[in-house]
Amino acid sequence: MMTARSLARDIKDGKTTARAAVEQALDRIKKAEPKLSAFNTVIAERALDRAASLDAAGRASAPLHGVPIAIKDNMCTKDVPTTASSKILTGFIPPYDATVVERLERAGAIIIGKTNLDEFAMGSSTENSALGPSKNPWDVTRTPGGSSGGSAAAVAARLVPLALGSDTGGSIRQPAGLCGIVGFKPTYGRVSRYGLLAFASSLDQIGPFATTVEDAALVFSVIGGFDAHDSTSSPEAMPDLNTALSGDVNGLRIGVPRAFLGEGVDADILTAFESALATLAARGAKLIDIELPHAPYGIPVYYLICTAEASSNLARYDGVRYGLRAKLEKDDGLLQMYERTRDQGFGAEVKRRIMLGTYVLSAGYYDAYYLKAQQVRTLLLQDYQTAFERVDVVATPTTPTPAFKLGEKTSDPVQMYLNDIFTVSANLTGLPSISVPCGFSSSRLPIGFQLTGRPFDEATLLRAADAFQRDTKFHTEVPPFAEATGGKPHA
Ligand code: GLN
Repeated sequence: MMTARSLARDIKDGKTTARAAVEQALDRIKKAEPKLSAFNTVIAERALDRAASLDAAGRASAPLHGVPIAIKDNMCTKDVPTTASSKILTGFIPPYDATVVERLERAGAIIIGKTNLDEFAMGSSTENSALGPSKNPWDVTRTPGGSSGGSAAAVAARLVPLALGSDTGGSIRQPAGLCGIVGFKPTYGRVSRYGLLAFASSLDQIGPFATTVEDAALVFSVIGGFDAHDSTSSPEAMPDLNTALSGDVNGLRIGVPRAFLGEGVDADILTAFESALATLAARGAKLIDIELPHAPYGIPVYYLICTAEASSNLARYDGVRYGLRAKLEKDDGLLQMYERTRDQGFGAEVKRRIMLGTYVLSAGYYDAYYLKAQQVRTLLLQDYQTAFERVDVVATPTTPTPAFKLGEKTSDPVQMYLNDIFTVSANLTGLPSISVPCGFSSSRLPIGFQLTGRPFDEATLLRAADAFQRDTKFHTEVPPFAEATGGKPHA
């Protein structure tokens, strides 16, 4: 599999065509899907038609001309089912495209399908999907992570060079880490959320999966920037990503929150993390110890805030406006219709979060839980602001363990939540954050290295991550599964 950048160049140079690129992706998807379950919907015909018209239009200069991309199934695609992997959206067909989809198509990309996720993006393993879990291409008995597990699995298995995910508490970076690819969450407000099915609106952010930081930056340059359709969209100018990826990290100050890294982190992860730091240090970066005293509270704070916002956002699924309406019994009134629809339409984790969120927002508990969580969120932001007076980026592992077995954590929600310990901070603070492959465990499962940057300073963050890839080869390693379905290491 080639990178998106090299594929777009080859198409432009006439060495291959958009149609060939789409056919190849469809062929791999067909071979891989029975084992991987990465996709909810594949839109073969529409993709082939679009490829044909792009080829007919000639060698365009659009940055993603002819490049296939998969979209997480919680982003609206006009005339194509959008399910959020929930029964409650059965039959829902959006009448419009999300802004990110529109921008990708305008840049020449070809949407190839919609990928599986934990229902409404609530989870860390895709096991909360109403359509069943996706599998990790490095070991199909393990999770690809979540919630954007389908997107991560599709890119890791080299079915497509690119995919979009959404990241509310780690859902791009965690699966990227567990699947050995790049996952990037831009600053909150940087990428329009118009057309993204809302989970927790103060945390949600869309971003790319790719095999290289260069490709992730390319997608970011296409989807990022102000959008009048999203009231939280930032007017901040986009960085010039052509000059940002210089490979130079000489003098870059990397903050390492040592006290936060101890407990519950796998030895293999710590080893890979230390050697990633050493790689950057050898290029001239300076390692500086920092403190993030409130980071250990990230998980409880995140699960109070995200459930509160989810309980409000998901109130709209009532059997009237979208998708499913439950069959009614004889004397049912409006209230029963709502209740039956929501009972039948939502899965267990979504119900748990709606109940938790309703509880923490209710009179009498609001101050003790929701308000307190918002206060600690501010303290966490202050920790980072203090750290960023001395450093340019903050480094941690992406996850405390490599990919876990399917079924291993499903009976214990708290164990599942703890997987997000290193990722939630960037959402609570809105900071840009990226995971890049930095090694393998003793059982050859990928390990992710996470860097977090200053608000709207994606340029520095991407520069550091790209420099790391220039010195390492982890991102060029392909799971055996991908080779079996025709995916080759990228050029
Ligand atoms: N795993 C986290 C959760 O379950 C994050 C999910 C996400 O980022 N969408 O909420």
